[in-house]
Amino acid sequence: MAATDPTRTETLAVHAGREDFVELGVHAPPIDLSSTYPVRDLDIGTASFDALVAGDAAAANPVYARLHNPTVARVERALATLEGTEACVAYASGMAAITALLLASRARGAHVLVVRPLYGTSDHLFASGLAGLEAQFVEAHEIAAHRRPDTALVFIETPANPTLDLVDIRAVVAAAGDVPVAVDSTFATPILQRPSELGATYVVHSATKFLGGHGDVVAGIVCCPEADAKALRQVRAATGGLLHPLAAYLLHRGLPTLALRVERAQASAIELARRLARHPAVARVCFPGLGTVRGAHLHTTQMRGPGTLIAFEVRGGHDAAAAVMRHVALLTPAVSLGSVDTLIQHPAGLTHRVLDDATRERCGITPGLLRLSVGIEHVEDLWADLAQALAATDDGSGRLRDAA
Ligand SMILES: *Cc1c(COP(=O)(O)O)cnc(C)c1O
Repeated sequence: MAATDPTRTETLAVHAGREDFVELGVHAPPIDLSSTYPVRDLDIGTASFDALVAGDAAAANPVYARLHNPTVARVERALATLEGTEACVAYASGMAAITALLLASRARGAHVLVVRPLYGTSDHLFASGLAGLEAQFVEAHEIAAHRRPDTALVFIETPANPTLDLVDIRAVVAAAGDVPVAVDSTFATPILQRPSELGATYVVHSATKFLGGHGDVVAGIVCCPEADAKALRQVRAATGGLLHPLAAYLLHRGLPTLALRVERAQASAIELARRLARHPAVARVCFPGLGTVRGAHLHTTQMRGPGTLIAFEVRGGHDAAAAVMRHVALLTPAVSLGSVDTLIQHPAGLTHRVLDDATRERCGITPGLLRLSVGIEHVEDLWADLAQALAATDDGSGRLRDAA
């Protein structure tokens, strides 16, 4: 078995979570839409119910869809395999996954240490004090000093949204001591980064992004040791933030091409970042590969490359950024990221709008900042579109182009 057991991520992405196909005699994952399951043997039903409510991964009878779904369980197995963790628990969205993680952590204490910047809604969730949690925002190097007996969790995001700052996962794990560390690894994907190998207890993804990869599924996951997954499944069963089996199918459908998509997008991002840095309409480019973000050196150590996202600031502030959004033709002017098509958005006006002005400023989210999620199109086509959209910022002649 061991001799033929694949361990390379590219191969696992194609085959993981499909282990029962031979037995089932299928070549694609069956979609099980049952909301309930017949219980003919009450003893088995009762034992299954007890096991699932306690957070077990599976039982002889799924009993009810809020407790277990085989289609969801398959993609969970695949994602745990890719992240190198024992377990994965899938939710209806990335925010549902983070909420469940916070509720599950609440049993250990009320205090959470959080490193900014973060995805805007995550920041909002922490700042809002959900479930009586007291979130304290600190710099990564301040974690050890601010740890308390009731600290339940340390939460970081790397690469961070939208500035692409990198946080040293190993250093954060060391500073956290026996407090579990959660890493939102959405921007990296398991192709570029495996936080569990660096000591993180929880790996969080908005699977809406690269893992789904085609802009047609909303999903979230937490990958972790099986012992920690039990509490996460209990929260899911109690609060109902389930991943729908059709969404689970689409998520699983996207995984085989994950490595190809990320590698192509990353190669293009490296080239586009270089060209943007030389463009007269661009004041600054945030990209780990250019050494222009905090912790940039980590892209060759804890990551396998600089990633596929670029943040850049256009000269002319908000109006120039708005002109770029208006003039892109091939690029999709939209929030979200990690899709096969290239997306461009304005963090200050959209994804990070919920932050207060002072926090936005501290995080470097300026009025002229745009975030580019590079897709798998040909890099020259992407550059041609970007270049013509940037030209519209030169002299405020956007109106002329609109009329043309
Ligand atoms: C999108 C995103 C989220 C939230 O995920 P949803 O699937 O939209 O709920 C969380 N973290 C990061 C880094 C994201 O990009």
